[in-house]
Amino acid sequence: MKKVLFTLLMMNVILHPIQAQEKEYVILVHGGAGVMSALQEHPEQRDMYYAALDSALQIGERQMQLTGKGVDVVLAVINYFESNPLFNSGIGATVSAAGQFELDASIMEGKDLSAGSVAGVKHIKHPINAAYAVKKMTPHVMLSGDGADQFAAENGLETVKDNLYFATPKTMKWVEKFKEESKKNGTVGCVVLDKEGNLTAGTSTGGMLGKKYGRIGDAPIIGAGTYADNSGCAVSCTGHGEYFIRHSVASNLNFRVKFLKQPIEEAAQEIIFKELNSEEGNGGLIAVDKEGNYTMPFNSGGMFRGVLYREKNTGYLTEEVGIFKETKKMIDEKSNLVGAFTHQRPVTKEDLKIFNDATKGYKEKLVPLSVGTQVVAGINYLFICKKENGTKVSLKIFKPLKGKPRIIE
Ligand code: ASP
Repeated sequence: MKKVLFTLLMMNVILHPIQAQEKEYVILVHGGAGVMSALQEHPEQRDMYYAALDSALQIGERQMQLTGKGVDVVLAVINYFESNPLFNSGIGATVSAAGQFELDASIMEGKDLSAGSVAGVKHIKHPINAAYAVKKMTPHVMLSGDGADQFAAENGLETVKDNLYFATPKTMKWVEKFKEESKKNGTVGCVVLDKEGNLTAGTSTGGMLGKKYGRIGDAPIIGAGTYADNSGCAVSCTGHGEYFIRHSVASNLNFRVKFLKQPIEEAAQEIIFKELNSEEGNGGLIAVDKEGNYTMPFNSGGMFRGVLYREKNTGYLTEEVGIFKETKKMIDEKSNLVGAFTHQRPVTKEDLKIFNDATKGYKEKLVPLSVGTQVVAGINYLFICKKENGTKVSLKIFKPLKGKPRIIE
């Protein structure tokens, strides 16, 4: 009898391999791929990127709590990246050889394969919002150049008169003295498996530094830089766009997962390391399937990337970020590692004031032990606190520029 039970159990294990914990939702972000040799020598700069990736994931997490919809998460995350000069999208975008900022973005929802994109736009503050508007408000998938700028203005999206709005002190130097060798990486992307089981993908970029006027990369091309299909996966790519277009990287991965039933990680590895290689088409991608399996391979020196997911049964949250091969755990509620922020420090008087304001009338008594701030966004505080019974918990406080701080548990 025991033997029969054991055999049945083993058959079950073989037929249904013990899956990693089921996930309620998964959020992946990337902030571009490239050589990044300067960052190898500057840990303080790496910290800035870790903090920015963490902010992006926390913004995604907050949005997931608010609406539970992947499309809202992708928009919130990419809006954040487009406002952050560290990345090659929105402000901070790379410059064309003509000294102009020409931006590309796209978004796709896997539940109905609806998609929108804009290419070569020069006056739209948040190209990802324009891509979404194309998807929502037109019968088309892609608008480009002046037409896309006009469409955005006519539909009340934020536009900027001066194309130099997108410049930063760093990119202005390129405008003034264009240098081929100082490549900037930092295209941004986000893919999500949401609470409703839907997949969504979005990508936004300034393109390749020194690109020719009118050049369009893979980012706004559905199937090259972005794809989402509920019966396959959601993908956002970054790297040398011409190669990603030639290899239809995003739809290629979806095809392998959907029709060839290849595990997402194996399929992505084959594309990134065999179809593309670091000489011809360096870069990487982030992708997630409907089971919550995810992958973030890259064949370049590094790729700014991060993942945040919540387990279905336990409710545990995990968050990791990485640039090179390393991964840095930011939150691992399962093993009680919370608040492994890059800027963890003792609580100052000012922090205490924020803490007290936010926790006034809070349901339990907490003593703050240390705090991590997310310097780049400058809005989130993560306090490690002790409960009365001695256990440690983390408490995130969102401090808007105006108004009362809010607690996000
Ligand atoms: N893929 C983008 C492009 O070719 C650039 C990048 O990801 O760095 O436009």
